[in-house]
Amino acid sequence: MHDPPAQVGENHHVTEPRVQRSYGPCRARFQATARQCGASLWTLPIAARGPAGEVLTIDLAAMGSHRARRALVVLSGVHGVEAFACSQAQCELLAHLGSTRLPADVAVVVVHAVNPWGMAWGRRQNESNVDLNRNWRRSAVEPTHNHAYDELHHLACPETTELPSVDDLLEVAGRLVAERGLDWVRAGLTAGQYRHADGLHYGGERTEESNRLLEAALLPLLAPVEQLVVVDLHTGHGPWSELTLLVDHGPGSDDSRFWAACAPGVRIEHARDDPEATVAPKVGQIANGLRDHVRQGGAVAWSTTLEVGTVADLEQLAATYLEQWVYRRGDRRRPDHAEVCRRFARCFTPDDADWQQAAVTGMLSVLSAVFTAGVASS
Ligand SMILES: [Zn+2]
Repeated sequence: MHDPPAQVGENHHVTEPRVQRSYGPCRARFQATARQCGASLWTLPIAARGPAGEVLTIDLAAMGSHRARRALVVLSGVHGVEAFACSQAQCELLAHLGSTRLPADVAVVVVHAVNPWGMAWGRRQNESNVDLNRNWRRSAVEPTHNHAYDELHHLACPETTELPSVDDLLEVAGRLVAERGLDWVRAGLTAGQYRHADGLHYGGERTEESNRLLEAALLPLLAPVEQLVVVDLHTGHGPWSELTLLVDHGPGSDDSRFWAACAPGVRIEHARDDPEATVAPKVGQIANGLRDHVRQGGAVAWSTTLEVGTVADLEQLAATYLEQWVYRRGDRRRPDHAEVCRRFARCFTPDDADWQQAAVTGMLSVLSAVFTAGVASS
């Protein structure tokens, strides 16, 4: 007999109305919250340093049984710049779990800042310009080559000596969409590429340090698990302040049905066979990699990316284009280039109290529902 399902976060109120916008205070709050609620805490330093030379760490907080058969894993900051609201939602989750008795064979592992360098420097990618979410077990796989990106790289990453023109980008991009179709452009730009080390969504040549540390810390904790649910928190996809679950199987699949049952009413986008989808299938994603690893061991496992929408796609594209140029050719100490970086960061954590409140509350309510329906009551 299982214990009755724990109800986490019902009628919850978030404790902090404003999202912290820098790495250090977010990490400090996460560590303090983990200690306050009796979680086990692992702090994993990476070699790269922050803007003030400070040490950067991935932090794991684990609650519940050390020999759990059922587990929820919640990741944040795979894309560093997207981490700030996600960090707060993780703290709220820990605080609520801390006041709840977990079922005897359940564990919750909350991973803060998978990409701490990106969080500290306000970049999506890590210290080597690698998108960690195209890099899971990269050393063990040779991904299919993204030919479309070869054609798009010079457009996405122009070799201008001054900040490039967004109007030029949009004009050429509009022409390409008309000629080749939106799906071709979107997949080319976002699916991941492995040849242009200074380009967008570069997946790297080998498994990056953050992913190696994560794998080494997480897999032993998950070894006894017979049912795993992974939620990877992101911001920037979907309508303003709305939640979307990204699922890498098609409509009607077991994966899709699982997530629809766990989080009723939350929009689901499928990366495959979904005419409504605005995301391309990707390789090397962390949450899906963890799921597949556990499934290969014979256990039941599910994974999703939980997104909170921010600004419109075109605004994000333009901000990403300029920020990537500043990274490649600019100088973040110059006021106009620093402003590009600030605008880019605001695309993922809008300077809007209502958005921040909706994002944190929304993520917490989905995590709560997923924990209750997908882990605690199974
Ligand atoms: Zn993201």
